[in-house]
Amino acid sequence: MSGSTLERKLPGFRGEQLGVSLTVKRNCSVWQPLGVEYRPLAGFTLGGGIGWLSRKHGLACDNLFEAQVVTSEGEVLFANKDENKDLFWALCGGGHGLGVVTSFGFRLHRVGPTVYGGMLIYQGDSFHTVVPEAIKLMEKSPDELFLPIVLSTAPPAPFLPREMHGNKMIVIVGGYMGDPKQGEQVVLPFKHLDKFKVDMMAPIPYLSLQSLPNEFNPL
Ligand SMILES: Cc1cc2nc3c(=O)[nH]c(=O)nc-3n(C[C@H](O)[C@H](O)[C@H](O)COP(=O)(O)OP(=O)(O)OC[C@H]3O[C@@H](n4cnc5c(N)ncnc54)[C@H](O)[C@@H]3O)c2cc1C
Repeated sequence: MSGSTLERKLPGFRGEQLGVSLTVKRNCSVWQPLGVEYRPLAGFTLGGGIGWLSRKHGLACDNLFEAQVVTSEGEVLFANKDENKDLFWALCGGGHGLGVVTSFGFRLHRVGPTVYGGMLIYQGDSFHTVVPEAIKLMEKSPDELFLPIVLSTAPPAPFLPREMHGNKMIVIVGGYMGDPKQGEQVVLPFKHLDKFKVDMMAPIPYLSLQSLPNEFNPL
């Protein structure tokens, strides 16, 4: 365990129960690399799990240090780097169908409370300009920056100009998971990839950033 990380055990969660794990995180002011708020935890972690902190701290499964598993024979096993090593290796990203995981031990990382993040939206017909340039910028950026590109159809949302509704759009969503002032500078070039855009990038509580994609993902 390094200075900025903490190991913490959570009982297994599925679906809407992940709200409980968020409470744990609030109380500790520490975070594990989840994707968005209320993302189911078990299948997410066992399948890998990409989230806002993944460039800096790895996948959710990279931060698993221990799991408790009930096998199909009803045996209760603990798996970690010393005990049931092969099972632990398989649970870290390839673990569906190896038993029911009833407890997860995670390495947590301190982040926020405020980060620089949100969404930048370009029109879909800018694809050939915006996407290759955004990828080039991302490659040169520090690991604190996590800005996936989502290609989607613009919903009739109030934050989008009416003429965009129903048309293709490019959403650059995420942010800089470090000092917000530094983040503003790192994100700046992503705001000049083409002329037309909606700029919703600003200092934002990490918790709010986690729930941002819920607008597009009604789970
Ligand atoms: C809207 C949406 C957004 C998403 N965004 C992301 C993202 O940003 N990053 C990302 O990495 N993934 C993302 N995903 C994918 C998501 O991680 C997977 O769908 C994940 O499997 C969901 O976890 P779950 O616990 O609901 O699993 P389920 O869908 O319930 O199950 C998936 C598999 O895991 C097994 N499983 C579930 N719980 C346990 C347990 N306790 N023990 C053993 N096996 C178990 C199930 O048997 C099944 O084989 C997204 C999915 C959706 C629908």
